[in-house]
Amino acid sequence: MTSAALIEIAEVTKRYPGGHEALSNISLNIKPGEMVFLTGHSGAGKSTLLKLIAAIERPTSGHIMVNGQNVGRMKRPALPFFRRNIGLIFQDHKLLYDRSVFDNVLLPLHIQGVIGNDAAKRVRAALDKVGLLGRERARPITLSGGEQQRLCIARAIVSRPALVLADEPTANLDDAYARDIMDMFRAFNEVGVTLVISTHDQDLIHRYGGRKVTLAYGKQVEG
Ligand code: ADP
Repeated sequence: MTSAALIEIAEVTKRYPGGHEALSNISLNIKPGEMVFLTGHSGAGKSTLLKLIAAIERPTSGHIMVNGQNVGRMKRPALPFFRRNIGLIFQDHKLLYDRSVFDNVLLPLHIQGVIGNDAAKRVRAALDKVGLLGRERARPITLSGGEQQRLCIARAIVSRPALVLADEPTANLDDAYARDIMDMFRAFNEVGVTLVISTHDQDLIHRYGGRKVTLAYGKQVEG
């Protein structure tokens, strides 16, 4: 692998059980500090590619290296350690509605064994970054859609990951909220966090001007 790549995707094909080929022969390198937009129609394979990078799914053929580790071959016990360094913002990672805003962000730290004052400080720092510091005691259900998405982001970044993967983070948000979220991502990127963000919103990509990778029917057509 080229030494400069944080993520190296080499000739990756993903076929789901049932024979459907969601990704066909994708090759892509992402360097540390890049902000990459993954775009394409619904069903193009964006989520699948993010899941492969996060080792949520495994490639059918080809290989994916993240930070020098072959994620397609990673053994199950190694996965939690690998994911500690990745912030995941996925549609199906629901908030816990019976816990406070604070506790939702605290949970990933607890799982990693960070507790006490150190954990509380980090939770507050993460909530501060997303502008929710005043809402610590609130229940997520009382937050607006945009605020809930910001809470998901706080939860994803509380472990200070070097890589953030976000699947349609601005879907279902109006323009002002979407911009809010994107400004936040840009701020993370400015301090060196590598971001891979899937979106079908071309205006957003145009406005934020990161690298664009376009998929169509599982094939890479640009980027
Ligand atoms: P996108 O994120 O661009 O909308 P996806 O990666 O979700 O695309 O889906 C790519 C293709 O793979 C679609 O045809 C979808 O139906 C299929 N697919 C996604 N997940 C699964 C799965 N778990 N099992 C079978 N097919 C899947």
